[in-house]
Amino acid sequence: MSDNRNVWIFVEQEEGQIADVGLELLAKGRELADTLESQVWALVLGYQVAPLAERVIHHGADRVLLANHPELELYRTLPYSRVIIEQVQAHQPYIFLLGATPVGRDLAPRVASATNVGLTADCTDLQIGDYLLKKEKREYKDLLYQIRPAFGGNIIATIVNPKTRPQMATVREGVMQPNPPDLEFSGEVEIVEPSFEPSDFALHVLSREIRQPTVKLKDAPVIVAGGGGVSSEDESRLIEELAHILGGEVGASRAAVDAGFFSHEHQIGQTGATVRPRLYIAAGISGAIQHSTGMDESNKIISINTDPDAPISKIAHYKIVGDIAEVLPLLINALREKSR
Ligand SMILES: Cc1cc2nc3c(=O)[nH]c(=O)nc-3n(C[C@H](O)[C@H](O)[C@H](O)COP(=O)(O)OP(=O)(O)OC[C@H]3O[C@@H](n4cnc5c(N)ncnc54)[C@H](O)[C@@H]3O)c2cc1C
Repeated sequence: MSDNRNVWIFVEQEEGQIADVGLELLAKGRELADTLESQVWALVLGYQVAPLAERVIHHGADRVLLANHPELELYRTLPYSRVIIEQVQAHQPYIFLLGATPVGRDLAPRVASATNVGLTADCTDLQIGDYLLKKEKREYKDLLYQIRPAFGGNIIATIVNPKTRPQMATVREGVMQPNPPDLEFSGEVEIVEPSFEPSDFALHVLSREIRQPTVKLKDAPVIVAGGGGVSSEDESRLIEELAHILGGEVGASRAAVDAGFFSHEHQIGQTGATVRPRLYIAAGISGAIQHSTGMDESNKIISINTDPDAPISKIAHYKIVGDIAEVLPLLINALREKSR
């Protein structure tokens, strides 16, 4: 096992645009590396991606491993994993983090398997801490606490890998906050020359279609979300109308998605999006932990619920006790009046 305590981040990009989760992980990686008094190394793979290196450094990377090659233009599992596995084996980082995106979820298990290490998927928090392995009567210092909901979200599990390196985790999109760029921050760029095998190119991409998301929850300043309390199409339309008037987006709990009132793209929570809007209106939502984990960092939360003791009231800044069928039209009319 190597002695370095470096934190590696896979900085995902698509057509030269760094994925938000890449910047989120760079911020978290910087925090972890500062605690460990070590470095952040970023892996950037793609074609014509050299200009990204500087941006990655400004977001906290001490060193960028840049693999810039035509065969890496479009993501394909085998060429990407070949490059990453070789680098991981050569440098043996202490920690390696990837976003829990479709690409990260594809790559991370391959790297973990090739390097014989464990992998925690879908973490919602990461910290550095010690761990006493009782049967060995030995305390392992400065491990990566890989924190994520478990058993249906009923407990928060902290997972550690005391013995293998790197300690690997994928991290949910949107749960970490990116840092603003620091133009004074300096780092080094190391060019990585990929050494592909012919078998890496078994897959040919003939065409690609990219569907742009129609629901943009992540950056919405206001979200009006409907829950199990929504019981008709008319009520779901009231949610949409209020969101529209407030210039916001429509969110939903799983109960409302399962009931067919909103599509899964609107779902917020453990198996949906994580959001932090300035205003979150929870209409007919109980506030189960699997939902609140995705919205409890909203700046202001208003709940509309017939039950004054619903769990959401513990995190709501304001609560309106009432039926959404009555409260939503009142709010809509009041806002329409105000804007006249
Ligand atoms: C592994 C796993 C993952 C999950 N992931 C998610 C997730 O990502 N997101 C998520 O949301 N859930 C998720 N869930 C489901 C979660 O446990 C809850 O079942 C769900 O959040 C409940 O949604 P709800 O509060 O809207 O509905 P309900 O539990 O049905 O609550 C409805 C609320 O509305 C109130 N109400 C009823 N009628 C009205 C009315 N007319 N006017 C006003 N208020 C009214 C009620 O008092 C109640 O508080 C997950 C569960 C599991 C096991």
